[in-house]
Amino acid sequence: MSAFEYRHGQLHVEDLPLENIAQEVGTPFFCYSTQAMVNAYNSFSDALAKAGVKGTICYALKANSNQSVIQTLAKAGAGADVVSEGELRRALEAGVDPKKIVFAGVGKKPSEMAVGLKAGILQFNVESLPELEALSAVAQKMGVTAPVAFRINPDVDAKTHAKISTGKAENKFGIDIPSVRNFVEQAKVLPNIAVESLAVHIGSQLTDASPFKDAFARLASLYKELQNAGLPLKRIDFGGGLGIQYKDETPPDLSEYAQAVSEAMQGLDAECIFEPGRFLVGNAGVLVTETIYVKDGTNRRFLIIDAAMNDLIRPSLYDAWHDITPLKQPDANTSLTPCDIVGPICESGDTFATQRPLPEIAAGDLLAMESAGAYGAVMASSYNTRLNAPEILVKGDQYAIVRKRVDYDTLIKQDILPEWLSK
Ligand SMILES: *Cc1c(COP(=O)(O)O)cnc(C)c1O
Repeated sequence: MSAFEYRHGQLHVEDLPLENIAQEVGTPFFCYSTQAMVNAYNSFSDALAKAGVKGTICYALKANSNQSVIQTLAKAGAGADVVSEGELRRALEAGVDPKKIVFAGVGKKPSEMAVGLKAGILQFNVESLPELEALSAVAQKMGVTAPVAFRINPDVDAKTHAKISTGKAENKFGIDIPSVRNFVEQAKVLPNIAVESLAVHIGSQLTDASPFKDAFARLASLYKELQNAGLPLKRIDFGGGLGIQYKDETPPDLSEYAQAVSEAMQGLDAECIFEPGRFLVGNAGVLVTETIYVKDGTNRRFLIIDAAMNDLIRPSLYDAWHDITPLKQPDANTSLTPCDIVGPICESGDTFATQRPLPEIAAGDLLAMESAGAYGAVMASSYNTRLNAPEILVKGDQYAIVRKRVDYDTLIKQDILPEWLSK
């Protein structure tokens, strides 16, 4: 059973009509389902167990780093994959076990590394020699050893949108395979570094299993080679990237994904790490919005809504599709009209959908932008001096505001006038 479905003609999240929440908190707002997140986590973990794979699922916080989301997943058993000091602090604050935290990202600063070392995290995924040198220096100064994974760039085409593809030789991410041996040699002479793991992450929203298979096979073969050469590796990190259904994609099912992992793990004795982000939260959230005006242009109908690209940038940034669903269930035989669904921001890019067939919508009608749980609220800005969309978490028939809408005063007072202007 989906966490978002019509009951008695009203779109519900778990046991609550979204319209009731809209009346209480106002629009636009993000709404997440606890059940959908926990189900996604459990299905991921069950699929691995069924394929005989043992490992830790480190939720990639960047998909949705609300404290309540991190904690919901941590309670289900998840660790965290973080890419900044801020995310590391969020993970620790939410109670994630430091021994389940992986620190990824191409540009960790020494000050950020120090926070990770102090917390005693599981591993730093290192992507360049200068980064390895910096980590060694910080660890030496602190008198600790830094656990390192080399993030490999397997030169595999993830066949996803160019802006979220990370595993090709021309991408900024990872170490190309021929250079890894040199990294291993460097690591031997650098103090306070322990190379324990190899990692990949080839991109996001993958809808085809074959790039995973290729990347995992290359990773596993390199792992064997380095281990045979005497490098004491203990972990292998398969990254994230598993796609979800936004429209009519058919992402690999979990058993196929787990099968790709278990094939790569044949003959390997290693702990596994996974870094899913989108898969755990993407379909667990919606963005609820109100129609402000219906504007009939010369040959187009525009629905002008109160959510905009500052709330959910995915359509403008990645040409992404989100299903748009009226909260009030339309009649089964209602006729559909193609509409352009746009926000109020002064940019033509502030468009959520073009020529989308929708039932008759009037001003005041509420709509849900589906699959907005990942890379939604975390990418929001206050462009056009718009207030942030609050975030709501639902569990059964309860809901809580887990991030509130700030008021205009708070937003504007973030600016500080210099002395010469304030006088
Ligand atoms: C973004 C990212 C992830 C999560 O990707 P999803 O597509 O959301 O699963 C995992 N690992 C790393 C290193 C990332 O940068």
